[in-house]
Amino acid sequence: MHVVIIGGGIIGATLAHRLGEAGVRVTVIEGGPGATPASFGWINASFYLNDDHFVLRSAGLDAWKRLGGHVTWSGCLCWEETGDAFDAQRDRLSTMGYNVEEVDAQGFAALEPNIKAPERALRFAQEGVAAPAQVVEALLSGVRRITGVHVKGIATSGDTVTGVETAQGLIPADRVVVAAGTGSPSILSTVGVELPMLERPGLMLRTAPVRPLMQHILVTPGQEVRQDAQGHIWAPTAANHQSDDTEEITTRPDLLADAALVRLQSMLPDHPLVWDRVMLAARPVPQDGLPVIGACGPAGLFAAVMHSGVTLAAITAELLAPQVMNATLSNAQSALAAPFTPDRFQSG
Ligand SMILES: Cc1cc2nc3c(=O)[nH]c(=O)nc-3n(C[C@H](O)[C@H](O)[C@H](O)COP(=O)(O)OP(=O)(O)OC[C@H]3O[C@@H](n4cnc5c(N)ncnc54)[C@H](O)[C@@H]3O)c2cc1C
Repeated sequence: MHVVIIGGGIIGATLAHRLGEAGVRVTVIEGGPGATPASFGWINASFYLNDDHFVLRSAGLDAWKRLGGHVTWSGCLCWEETGDAFDAQRDRLSTMGYNVEEVDAQGFAALEPNIKAPERALRFAQEGVAAPAQVVEALLSGVRRITGVHVKGIATSGDTVTGVETAQGLIPADRVVVAAGTGSPSILSTVGVELPMLERPGLMLRTAPVRPLMQHILVTPGQEVRQDAQGHIWAPTAANHQSDDTEEITTRPDLLADAALVRLQSMLPDHPLVWDRVMLAARPVPQDGLPVIGACGPAGLFAAVMHSGVTLAAITAELLAPQVMNATLSNAQSALAAPFTPDRFQSG
């Protein structure tokens, strides 16, 4: 069996790795960088849209642990909400069975001595971070890749997939997985599969390296922040970026980066910071905000398109690989996957 995966971001890479480990012949085709290199890389279930989404995201953390490596389980300190909203977030997550610990200013200072301590924060010790671009390269090591090639559509014979159409000709395949981020709807539309998406651009700032200043992912009222192993501090230029619903970025990226750096600098007044990169990317967000994972359209076609793709990549690979290989999902896997199939967007 030959599987072509359209998309070499975190979703395509994780699935390609899993299929490759199972002995399947895989080719990844990628047109150019998508959202993954600009991602904040935070792996969490503390943000979610509904109960099914929470369960899937929680399973996402476990799936990364099963995959092994790739993730730094640094934990997260969150004080995005204050007052009653803080209590409500703590209680809601505890009721869902999430591991939540409230820390006071003293406890916070012990965990993060370089950061001005808030009165209290929520600690999600089980959350982690992946360096998305590096993880993609690691997962795709040994996988056949075609880069710089644009897929125009899906080729079929009768009601069965036969490959993908490129400007350079047809690349044959027995199965095709569309993991092409914001490029997915136009590819899927060539076989009548609908995937309406939201416009959700995001900007990510990275500072020049500084000495280690923080251990956790920090979710402050004005900013999400983390520091990578090389010393770069990463921060989305928009506050509350997981629920960011900006449809268009019309302000100059350098000015947004300057403004975000001022917020960062106020958290770390004793450590001069400069930004060395600001990255603009389109988040792949299906219209209802939830992931799309599963078979669609002609036999042999599958889609895997989602925001929070870093959180969800490992569980997506676990749920999709058996389907691509014609294997049966366990009852638990079927229940996890059921709310997120592409069927929900098909009108006819
Ligand atoms: C600023 C920002 C911050 C984020 N922070 C987080 C976070 O903290 N945690 C989290 O879980 N998620 C986060 N996300 C979301 C996450 O990054 C994405 O959900 C994830 O990267 C999507 O991965 P993907 O592989 O589906 O798509 P992408 O990374 O977008 O990759 C798409 C791939 O498809 C290819 N492609 C597209 N069209 C074609 C075509 N026609 N022909 C050939 N190839 C094609 C591209 O070349 C690319 O290889 C963030 C996103 C942004 C923008």
